[in-house]
Amino acid sequence: MFAPVMDQPSIATDWTFAATSYISATLFPDNPTPSPKAASLAHTLDLSSKPADTAPVNITGLTRDELTQALIDSGVVEPRKANMRMQQMWRWMHHYGVTDFDLMTDIAKDQRALFPEKFTLSRPEIVERQISRDGTRKYLIRMAPGIEVETVYIPDVGRAGALCVSSQVGCTLNCTFCHTGTQKLVRNLTTAEIVAQVQVARDDLGEWPSPKEDRRLSNIVFMGMGEPLYNLDHVANAIEIISDNEGIALSRRRITVSTSGVVPELANLGNRTAAMLAISLHATNDALRDVLVPLNKKYPIAELMDAIRAYPQLSNARRVTFEYVMLKGVNDSPAEARALINLLKGIPAKINLIPFNPWPGTDYQCSDWKTIEAFAAILNRAGYASPIRTPRGRDILAACGQLKSESEKKRASTLRREQKATPAETVETASNEDNDHSESLPFAHLAAGMVS
Ligand code: SF4
Repeated sequence: MFAPVMDQPSIATDWTFAATSYISATLFPDNPTPSPKAASLAHTLDLSSKPADTAPVNITGLTRDELTQALIDSGVVEPRKANMRMQQMWRWMHHYGVTDFDLMTDIAKDQRALFPEKFTLSRPEIVERQISRDGTRKYLIRMAPGIEVETVYIPDVGRAGALCVSSQVGCTLNCTFCHTGTQKLVRNLTTAEIVAQVQVARDDLGEWPSPKEDRRLSNIVFMGMGEPLYNLDHVANAIEIISDNEGIALSRRRITVSTSGVVPELANLGNRTAAMLAISLHATNDALRDVLVPLNKKYPIAELMDAIRAYPQLSNARRVTFEYVMLKGVNDSPAEARALINLLKGIPAKINLIPFNPWPGTDYQCSDWKTIEAFAAILNRAGYASPIRTPRGRDILAACGQLKSESEKKRASTLRREQKATPAETVETASNEDNDHSESLPFAHLAAGMVS
């Protein structure tokens, strides 16, 4: 269902221009609207590696302290004024979402003119944007040549809508039920690249300046590509930026980090971020979890449970979410449901049951619906909230992670032709204006289970 990148240049260009125009028209009615060309150019950015000393630094990925220091080091701002300037720029970047220094109108014009030599506010390139009929939005974002990640916005999840963000390109952990695990790790994303995923979604949703009420993007889940705790420094800095009250201002209680169980980093995650915790569990004994989540061989279930019990600020109001993918004949028996109840005793928890989303080459199948319902009923009777997340887009290679994986082998245009020739079995085919976009995505429904 994907259109090849080259087929749709106008989509990214049109919306970036529209977003820029929106910001400009809403906030700065006296300023002329930037040209489409300028808007398009302003939204392409290479964040692939540490910039050379002379390359402009993307300051939207700097914490307040880092930004203050960067302003001083640049020589553009006097040290005695650096804190004040940082605060001004922070509001423009993270509350108003501007991508042009010239819009920072409370900073002297001659100083604003010096910033682009040292800094940039650019967004990465949106390679592809898809909107499903139910409003789910998926972005394929190119951070740099060969560095692409998928980010999914899911409406009506959490308080209003959740954004599922990636923390790495590829993954090292090879969970056997996960398609992303078949991709080699390319690298960790930088703080700027993680924050950029939120900015891109807010550009598209028209959520600048940060709304006080009626937000469409209310929750963040780190459930995209990668293991967030293997990139904790950047994830923690990104959370610091997106939760800042004078910027994007998303409550840390609405930010959930999902891990496959990197035990030594759990306490660090809680202490540094105060984020909500989700555990990709999927099995109740080590023999099976060693297979499903191979990291379990390093950090077995007993160690993981101890670390979870010690997670900072755990309480009934801050429950851990356990993700449990339903695999036919593998982990879906009533005995396993009872074992799960035993395992979680004493932990404030909710359990999300995730019908498996098949992908090409997998040996797993999704449990029957009745089996899933029976499993959920056992958990419910024991007092655990255990919603079943409705699968969407099972047969669509356009799913998150799937596109990226498949596109390593084939051009997206080839995939598109193949998918058109194969009728969907469970998917509601999207019928938006492009008539070519499909909903749903492993990440999307996994993410849907992550927030309450
Ligand atoms: S489930 Fe998460 S940690 Fe496991 S392979 Fe997939 S992306 Fe990596």
